[in-house]
Amino acid sequence: MSLSLYNTATRSVDTFKAITPGKVGIYLCGATVQAEPHIGHIRSGVNFDILRRWLIHSGYKVTFIRNVTDIDDKILHKAVHEKAPWWAVAMKYERAFTDAYRALNVMPPTYEPRATGHITQMISLMERLVERGYAYAPGNGDLYLEVRKLASYLTLSGQKLDDLLPAGDADDSVKRDPRDFALWKSSKPGEPSWPTPWGDGRPGWHLECSAMAHAYLGEEFDIHGGGLDLIFPHHENEIAQSQAAGYGFARVWMHNAWVTASGEKMSKSLGNSLVVREILKRVRGIELRWYLGSAHYRSMLEFSFEALEESATSFRRIEGFLHRAKEHGEVHVLISDEFKSAMDDDLAVPTALALLSGWLRSGNSAITDGNFTAVVEEASKIRGALNVLGCDPFDSAFDADKSSDSSSQKEVLDGLIAGLLQEREEARARKDFAAADRIRDRISTLGITIEDTASGPRWSIS
Ligand SMILES: [Zn+2]
Repeated sequence: MSLSLYNTATRSVDTFKAITPGKVGIYLCGATVQAEPHIGHIRSGVNFDILRRWLIHSGYKVTFIRNVTDIDDKILHKAVHEKAPWWAVAMKYERAFTDAYRALNVMPPTYEPRATGHITQMISLMERLVERGYAYAPGNGDLYLEVRKLASYLTLSGQKLDDLLPAGDADDSVKRDPRDFALWKSSKPGEPSWPTPWGDGRPGWHLECSAMAHAYLGEEFDIHGGGLDLIFPHHENEIAQSQAAGYGFARVWMHNAWVTASGEKMSKSLGNSLVVREILKRVRGIELRWYLGSAHYRSMLEFSFEALEESATSFRRIEGFLHRAKEHGEVHVLISDEFKSAMDDDLAVPTALALLSGWLRSGNSAITDGNFTAVVEEASKIRGALNVLGCDPFDSAFDADKSSDSSSQKEVLDGLIAGLLQEREEARARKDFAAADRIRDRISTLGITIEDTASGPRWSIS
């Protein structure tokens, strides 16, 4: 069986066929960096990381692009609110997202382009759209895409143009059709802006993804992903921009469902309690990842702290079994045929987890029976599954106790510096002050400050 994936564009589970055999290009819409990530934001990162890991396990070379939207109305509002420059706000929250992705063992993208770093590509794309007769500038500094000219518009979401509400991103009176959307917006005084042939301004939200997907993945690529809420208008408008430019764009469209709370899409009203950083005070990164990755990516995940705790407890049971099994032999990453079939079936993680429960049961009874060959084999199958899901406890990314790691590094450093300091003391004792000074200089060029105290020299990193 080969990999099949649900394609939002065809509304069916189709056999996946890479454009270039053995290679897959993926573009995932990343974060608008205007607030700390909550678990609703991070789910898409986890879901598409599982897809990426499965493709890699299946032998593909994957180029994975996830953009950073670092210019946007929300960022400008936040900058006013935080009394900070817009770019400082964007950087601060980009770092918060990077930290959250790292804590959840989401592989860094192959390339992670920022919108503001690709204005040149956006201008080229807009010039092409004007030349081809799809974009127009009414003279107010904005540039709009004329959606009625594109027969393929709205096929992803299955809507009719005449049923659509106005785009609402500019004054309707300047547009040929109120549903036309802004590719570029003229800037208001005090706002960041870049020069273009149509006036100084900044990009509309959709433009960057078309420009950056083209820059990194070419005219046509394999998979485009994002959350369900992006299908319209964002993904429809990306398709419109790229296809009007004459590019094939994405072949497969994949959308992950939301994390819900009381059946609703997670919202700001839940406050900070669902910010990833806060949740990581309750459970480890590996446990939060396990929880977020356990539902099928197309199913809503109803969040509750009880469910999170329960899920973390069951993960700890699996982890405990793997550690016990390790005492009886080497636990490998083994991909069983049943697991492969489940993952090839549109990433059927719940089916895979049911298999895993079975292996855990038979592994535990093999411990009781003293059949350690069977214990290690079941453990290897479990580890194989966990590895694909990004939750392999033997993966160094999840060194359960990072603090003990850094404390052992400090011990080594302590020993090395103590040795140098002792040499310096000996040089002083024999009144070889030149040698003592040389040692002190060498230590200080490493950025280490020595303080002579009554109880002997003490060091710190300056
Ligand atoms: Zn996008």
